[in-house]
Amino acid sequence: EVEGRRKDGSIFPLDLSVSEVNIGDRKIYSGIVRDISERKQMETMKDEFISTVNHELRTPLTSIQGSLGLLMAMTGQHAEEKRHKLLQLAYDNCQRLSRLVNDILDMEKIAAGKMEYQLEVVEICQLVADIVERQQSFADKFGVSFDLQFSVSAVHVNLDQDRFDQALVNLLSNAAKFSDNGGKVEIGIAMNAASDVVISIRDHGPGIPEAFRSKIFGKFAQADGSATRLKGGSGLGLNITKKIIEAFHGSVDYETEEGKGTVFIFVLPVCQAQRRA
Ligand code: ADP
Repeated sequence: EVEGRRKDGSIFPLDLSVSEVNIGDRKIYSGIVRDISERKQMETMKDEFISTVNHELRTPLTSIQGSLGLLMAMTGQHAEEKRHKLLQLAYDNCQRLSRLVNDILDMEKIAAGKMEYQLEVVEICQLVADIVERQQSFADKFGVSFDLQFSVSAVHVNLDQDRFDQALVNLLSNAAKFSDNGGKVEIGIAMNAASDVVISIRDHGPGIPEAFRSKIFGKFAQADGSATRLKGGSGLGLNITKKIIEAFHGSVDYETEEGKGTVFIFVLPVCQAQRRA
């Protein structure tokens, strides 16, 4: 993308592609020039829309959520049950809406290449254990327990902790949401033959239907739309998760069997210093 100048002196954005052709000992260049003013205008409008969503929707939502949280804490156990239930309902739905808005904003940021990652070397076993412990209260709502099965310790990976947290939380909450009440989700860490670290999240839920598998990492992809109402979720989680893990030079995959369960896997390269050691 470069800037062009019209005869009247005005500047406009253009797409320029140049290719070289060798004919004998002669070199020929061909150039294709496309005026992209309209596309740029659309992109600006989209950016403005996203920024509006960000401010006009997220800011009040955060404030409503905060107020509801405070109200719930203030009324506490003394409030009559019905009032508490209503507050809880409002609070839960606010959280759901916040998650959706944040997911849409993250998706747009990734698409625009504007997602920023604060990479640092982190010990992954402790990090995973901490995240799992924090997510146990979410799993409790579905009567699901998390079980750590680490076969390694002290493994160092170069990643952004907050973004990794977001990716793992998404897999853990999916595993909890799609497990039966009383079910167990096993979280494993091991090394593979290439000395990469493999983090697995295994559930014993319904598995992923064959027809849905090719779409699973797509945007707004859900095997069963009614699951959104029942279990919450936007169908954006896995799309974002994959992009995040790929930003750490890792990959995301899964194995699934209908009626038996699913295991999602992150493969991440161990940091250079540890690899050399
Ligand atoms: P959502 O926010 O809806 O959970 P995701 O992108 O995380 O979005 O997941 C997309 C869809 O993939 C889910 O709605 C569900 O249909 C399917 N899915 C994801 N994880 C699992 C799992 N562990 N077991 C069964 N289905 C799953």
